[in-house]
Amino acid sequence: MFEKFFIILLVPVTIYVVYYLLNRTAKNNKAIKRALSDEGKEILEKEVAYYRHLSITDKLEFESRCLRFLDTVKIEGVGVTVELKDYMMIAASAIIPIFAFKKWTYPNLTNIMVYPSQFNKTYDFEGHADRNIMGMVGEGAMNGQMILSKSALEYGFRNTYDGQNTAIHEFVHLIDKADGAIDGIPAYLMDKSSVIPFMNLIREEIAKIKENKSDIDDYGMTSPAEFFAVAAEYFFENPEKFKINHPALYQALSEIFEQS
Ligand SMILES: [Zn+2]
Repeated sequence: MFEKFFIILLVPVTIYVVYYLLNRTAKNNKAIKRALSDEGKEILEKEVAYYRHLSITDKLEFESRCLRFLDTVKIEGVGVTVELKDYMMIAASAIIPIFAFKKWTYPNLTNIMVYPSQFNKTYDFEGHADRNIMGMVGEGAMNGQMILSKSALEYGFRNTYDGQNTAIHEFVHLIDKADGAIDGIPAYLMDKSSVIPFMNLIREEIAKIKENKSDIDDYGMTSPAEFFAVAAEYFFENPEKFKINHPALYQALSEIFEQS
């Protein structure tokens, strides 16, 4: 008799407990969407110099845009665990170059794969000697995909003085690609009249890199598209140094990205 009574009591109690736990999880998820956790804010504060230099109001705006970005793009680790720190650094890299454009998102991006380290052209990251690619944005069949190396992602934020940041580099390629072509000219962000002068600036600086007279990464001489991406990495990572060493380019990039 007692057993029967116990079972009768146990069923509703169990149902209630399961319902309570599920509901609590759902509420937590909603809370995460509305405001960035303190842990997330601490990561931004510690790792992201661009965020550190923002006003309190802009920090809030930056946080909510990071969250919105993370809601719309799927990020998955391939042979590696993606930690909160990685999510925050990826989101920050996405938002930094478009922070001035309040309504901008990345409609041309659906998925980011995080690889443990550098990889090669066939996207293998183990047992190949030519794994020298730290990030890429997909074209053709790989449209909408981005690959980032976790080690390069973390290295990019560890040292701001070197002006290198792989993740920002890849997002700048996506911004460049918004007009259909990754060619170093983000047409949507430029007046028609400033395109030719900007192309001339790119050509001049590429010539300087070739003569070893520029501190912009050598990789920039590969093409105007790569030049635009490496110059933007440097511009966002170390604007003070970039302004001193490259005043004309600094002016041009400030206008393109609407940074003051
Ligand atoms: Zn590139």
